[in-house]
Amino acid sequence: MELENLSIRDLNKKLKAKEISSLELTEFYISQIEKKDDDIKAFLSYSFDEAKKQAKKADEVISSSDDISLLCGIPFAVKDNILIKGQKATAASKMLENYNAPYDAFVIEKLKEKNAVFLGKTNMDEFAMGSSTENSAFFCTKNPHDKNKVPGGSSGGSAAAVASSQAVYALGSDTGGSIRQPASFCGVVGLKPTYGAVSRYGLIAMASSLDQIGPLTKTVDDAEIVFDAILGKDKKDATSVAYPEKMAKSGLSEITIGIPKEYFVDEVDPNIKDIVKKQIEELQSAGAKIKEVSLPNTKHALSVYYIIMPAEVSSNMARYDGIKYGYSKQHGQDLSDVYFNSRGEGLGNEVKRRIMLGTYVLSAGYYDAYYKKAQKVRTLIVDDFKKAFEEVDVLATPTSPTVAFGFSEKTKDPLSMYLADIFTVPVNLAGVPAISIPCGSLDGMPVGLQFIAPWFLEKNLFLVGKEYEKLKQN
Ligand code: GLN
Repeated sequence: MELENLSIRDLNKKLKAKEISSLELTEFYISQIEKKDDDIKAFLSYSFDEAKKQAKKADEVISSSDDISLLCGIPFAVKDNILIKGQKATAASKMLENYNAPYDAFVIEKLKEKNAVFLGKTNMDEFAMGSSTENSAFFCTKNPHDKNKVPGGSSGGSAAAVASSQAVYALGSDTGGSIRQPASFCGVVGLKPTYGAVSRYGLIAMASSLDQIGPLTKTVDDAEIVFDAILGKDKKDATSVAYPEKMAKSGLSEITIGIPKEYFVDEVDPNIKDIVKKQIEELQSAGAKIKEVSLPNTKHALSVYYIIMPAEVSSNMARYDGIKYGYSKQHGQDLSDVYFNSRGEGLGNEVKRRIMLGTYVLSAGYYDAYYKKAQKVRTLIVDDFKKAFEEVDVLATPTSPTVAFGFSEKTKDPLSMYLADIFTVPVNLAGVPAISIPCGSLDGMPVGLQFIAPWFLEKNLFLVGKEYEKLKQN
């Protein structure tokens, strides 16, 4: 099999057997990037010299020990809102164009301990706000399946890098769908872990009660390996927890898959509904039980998200004031001119739109009507999931109501762009884990199947996901 199609486990075997060195593997991926990235534009910056150094170190570890980590010596890519000490972290914003990270994110520390190899930082929507990567302040990334289409977003660079075999795997972040939706658009696997399973320390904050880091990979097993490597309690993120041991299922015959009727409504492309339903039927034939369930508050999820998320965004974005760090325009009459000019020039339109929305919903007189009300409905959405999971083990839905769309198709109408997140945001509001797995194609573009599990039961997602992949191989 070609090197670019080998899974993490296969590569690990080859490295251990000394059939290939990490340096050779890294040089292969660097050559892939040199060949493909001028066209795809998945990366914002490369760290090839650093990668080769890390690969040499991994080779030393491999030659001195039989017991190496599965990720030792394996090259991967990182979304540009995750900090790697000494490297740029722009979050695809002019505001942070020249910002160098002074420390490693928790997930990077974990991967460094495992001697992983960093190839570079990937493109994204500015500060992770968007669904197409068109909000990057620098350039658009192309979908490897059709270069006239968007890769999804906001982790569009990470999804495109994995889909075009420019990295074995990539890290992304998911606040309302930003790992799963681009994974679905680019035909790769994307996992949004349970809120609190992975530390957010060193992730440039968007909306702190929703943000979570996770992997984009080619297979479910790869996603599980990366997830296992990055999870865990971190004293620097008070919302992270020691991952609880829960009883997972051991086979498909023990699994009941719930089909939430609110996810198969008229607004979804009928072809996508058909494809997804057929996949669920295949799982049924392979032994899973199927049950229709209802999550009645799904219809409010997008409205709730677009109140809570901007509220948190407006507060997190306050730190970019032209004084502390980042883009600074020090001309004008007084301090408020510095603020206005730095933020006015340093931030893009979508970010400004959300700061304004968020400031509005938090302002005196509106707080109760919007923010507090939205928090109450958020609790109802959480309760919907709790009830559904009393009856079923996982839920199956489409990841996105459409396949990848064309450039500029939705940029003029923010509302139509927001609708791309309709099936992914409820998951973030509830904090449950979900995975998107490629499940077919429509007009040549990949379709994603989303499985959602109860809090800290990622194992059930991996079980169903792997069984599903096996069915597809046969
Ligand atoms: N597309 C969604 C948004 O623009 C989700 C973003 C994300 O998950 N970072 O808010």
